[in-house]
Amino acid sequence: MKNIAYKKQQDIPVIASVDVLVVGGGPGGLGAAVMAARQGAKTLLVERYGCMGGMAFHGEVNPFMYNHVAGRSLDRPVFVDWCKAMQKYLTPNEAERIPYDHGYGMTLVSKEFAMLGMEDLVLESGAKILYHHTLADVIMEGNSIKYAVFQSKSGLSAIESKTFIDCTGDGDLAVAAGCKFEFGGDDGLCQPMTTCFKLGGIDVKNIPDRKTINQLYAEARARGEVDSPRDNILFFTAVDQDVLHFNTTRIIKKSGVNALDLSDAEIEGRRQIRQIIEFLRKNVPGFANATLRSIACIVGIRESRRIIGQAYQTKDDFINRAKYPDGIARCNYPVDIHGNTGADQCVKIDKNDWYEIRYGTLVAADCNNLLIGCRALSVDHTLHSSIRIMPAMCSIGQAAGMGAALAVKSGVKPGEIDGSVVRAELKKNGAEL
Ligand SMILES: Cc1cc2nc3c(=O)[nH]c(=O)nc-3n(C[C@H](O)[C@H](O)[C@H](O)COP(=O)(O)OP(=O)(O)OC[C@H]3O[C@@H](n4cnc5c(N)ncnc54)[C@H](O)[C@@H]3O)c2cc1C
Repeated sequence: MKNIAYKKQQDIPVIASVDVLVVGGGPGGLGAAVMAARQGAKTLLVERYGCMGGMAFHGEVNPFMYNHVAGRSLDRPVFVDWCKAMQKYLTPNEAERIPYDHGYGMTLVSKEFAMLGMEDLVLESGAKILYHHTLADVIMEGNSIKYAVFQSKSGLSAIESKTFIDCTGDGDLAVAAGCKFEFGGDDGLCQPMTTCFKLGGIDVKNIPDRKTINQLYAEARARGEVDSPRDNILFFTAVDQDVLHFNTTRIIKKSGVNALDLSDAEIEGRRQIRQIIEFLRKNVPGFANATLRSIACIVGIRESRRIIGQAYQTKDDFINRAKYPDGIARCNYPVDIHGNTGADQCVKIDKNDWYEIRYGTLVAADCNNLLIGCRALSVDHTLHSSIRIMPAMCSIGQAAGMGAALAVKSGVKPGEIDGSVVRAELKKNGAEL
């Protein structure tokens, strides 16, 4: 690929000036904006698309994976508030079927209602939202971000803030600010991507069991009718009882932060969806009249950059169920690695135990006024596979929001706030710590 010189000097408008700027409106961004605003910080959340959601909406991800101890969600207050906000839009019957405090279960996601609930929560918290603005660059002052620069239909514009929270999932803001990061596991590969989709019109109670479906799938693969690298069909129930949600396409060896790879991945994900629908209709009892309800509008990215923070945690903390005085979120979801080659890995944690994530993993090591409130936190590939689930990401975001708000209140850098103080303040505000 050849490079050409491109340089443009121009004045751009400063469209807002705030205490806390949250970039990205997924589960992490939700937690960050709501918690920062609830602490009284003047907060703005900026999202590249026209609604909140991240993977919960644009990636069509379902369900909220379990992160519970003794039947209680470990992700409070914002995640549970999100579930309640989503439930408000469901029928009473549906709401009863999908509780958020339960044993070792999952909470089904109604993507439209989840998205509406997110917007409700952010606006109710007093934070403002700006859609259709994509982070393009930053303007630094020493080692701090002075302005974040956004690209929109109006051209470039800047937003000034005292503290910034990167909730882009990919660490776009941190990288623009010059932060170092890790990428992938020992082989340099991140977990595969998946384009999720839903099928309706299914007599869900009368379809074959998973073993039989997977046997039929193996036979179809052997006949060359499906050539997805995934060796089984992964599906979940959905809020609508005649609908199944498929998290089963597998796009391997692509980078979620390489735009050419991303474009190819979208095409590959939908190529596999065409084959899988055909396979199910032709071969699996109960699917003959399955209708296509929806396809995620973007390919799902499980993992990309992990920004180096003041602290760094590894799989040892999962193995040892590590607890810390500055632990700001708890997790008991398994290590869950979807493989690029070979078998997937799933290592569970005992039902009533958990490990904790430290505040320092959210504090960018290379930038003074930046927190990471999303899956790009400072952990290794293995620990990432456990902490990345939506409920936990909402708690990571809320801890970043609390850290940012405390830093603004005390006029110091987020890295100068003691993590145990962040923990105590989160607890006062309803966190399960
Ligand atoms: C295929 C797949 C299946 C999964 N299955 C499950 C599951 O069953 N249950 C579960 O709980 N979790 C699951 N996960 C994990 C979970 O969905 C994600 O890890 C989680 O959503 C990450 O949250 P986040 O806020 O960090 O990032 P995201 O959800 O990706 O949100 C990031 C947000 O930032 C915005 N953004 C990105 N870049 C910019 C930019 N430059 N400027 C402005 N805005 C930007 C995006 O549009 C998006 O709204 C799955 C993930 C994938 C990919």
